[in-house]
Amino acid sequence: MPSVSASRIFAAGERIFTEGDEPDVAFLIESGRVEVWANQGAKRLTLSFLGAGEILGEMAVIDRAPRSACADAITEVVVTEIRADQLRERLDEADPVLRSLLIGLLTRYRRGLRAARVGTGSAEPAADDQAQEQQRRIADKIRLERELLEAIDREELRVALQPIYDLDEQRIVGFEALVRWDHPIRGPVSPAEFIALAEETSLIVPVGHYALRKSCQLLAELDQQLPPEIRPWVAVNISARQSIVPDFADLLARTAQEFGLSPRRLKAEITESLALDYERVTELIQRCRHHGIGVALDDFGTGHSGLGHLHRLDFDSIKLDRAFVTPLPQDAKAVALVRGIATMLNGLNAEVIAEGVETLEQAKALRQLGVRYIQGWLVGRPQEPQAVLRQLLDPPTVILGQ
Ligand code: C2E
Ligand code: CA
Ligand code: CA
Repeated sequence: MPSVSASRIFAAGERIFTEGDEPDVAFLIESGRVEVWANQGAKRLTLSFLGAGEILGEMAVIDRAPRSACADAITEVVVTEIRADQLRERLDEADPVLRSLLIGLLTRYRRGLRAARVGTGSAEPAADDQAQEQQRRIADKIRLERELLEAIDREELRVALQPIYDLDEQRIVGFEALVRWDHPIRGPVSPAEFIALAEETSLIVPVGHYALRKSCQLLAELDQQLPPEIRPWVAVNISARQSIVPDFADLLARTAQEFGLSPRRLKAEITESLALDYERVTELIQRCRHHGIGVALDDFGTGHSGLGHLHRLDFDSIKLDRAFVTPLPQDAKAVALVRGIATMLNGLNAEVIAEGVETLEQAKALRQLGVRYIQGWLVGRPQEPQAVLRQLLDPPTVILGQ
């Protein structure tokens, strides 16, 4: 299929499209004049006149409905065709709330048009179930977004800490900070839900900032109750939108210092999709390293980056996704994969942290395969600072014998 849009010429008086047609293209009018019209009983109801630079016929393409009007060239008209899939691709990539607002707008417009054509102002058929369901979901999202903003203000978000265990030294060396939201009415809202929502807009920036400050505060409070030889680090999740905040690495360092912590006690976890932007990530890693802040690549193996380009990025650690760990130790392919990945990453001097380790067998297999750090329910769930403190003070049960 050609990727370049085609040009077409319509003679004066020629039909461009007819009501009821299945749309496969929209048009950018390059020159000439077009009338868009519909039948109102026996009469012709002009809906609009369009000229150079305007888009024609995009509505039906967007909401995948038959054309609800006709379009005629009044003068000679030159158009560039915009293929339906080109337009829909953009729509599919757009912000989901915006997309639904647009579809809602089109639905209302069509209802208005139908009402105008039968000559009544009230011929609104009830919205179909699917449209109603979509509206409800959007309304819910908008409400949740507002509530999340309020929750930040009211400090209703919590940070839970999940231990990360060093299999060589047989002790907890750090924690991952995982944000939690206990909604006063909805109950606990899963981060999978509200982080994804926050990431759709810039709301993730205050959420991430909050999580960062809370993590530093918790670590500083833990320090006061721990002997000086126990000084764990904390890893915070950084989303793509946060990382573009100017001087983000400096902000991380400053925040740590504000709580009396050395920036070395912080680690930043970034996801694979962000890592595709080499230049930005390289700069982030360098700036973090300047402050002694380690950078980990999160969810390794789930995204698109693959092994191929890892050598170009100088990560301090790589977090192997749970998907590789769960099938261990029975699944021979998973064993081979983890062995290969660990060998390669050890060769690059990157620490490997396996996520989602739930069983002793998995931990044993990981160790044999060359993985040094583990995180998962076997060592501990994401938990409150008091539980973390207990785990740090009572030297944790040895997970693996030497
Ligand atoms: P993640 O960064 O991959 O975090 C690990 C997730 O795996 C956490 O889910 C954790 O509770 C879960 N997990 C840990 N050990 C196990 C295990 O042994 N078995 C199983 N089945 N699951 C385990 P959680 O807490 O629901 O967080 C989900 C995601 O939300 C995180 O995935 C992270 O991407 C995001 N997130 C959480 N807090 C923040 C934050 O402060 N900022 C940003 N940007 N994202 C965050
Ligand atoms: Ca993470
Ligand atoms: Ca992860």
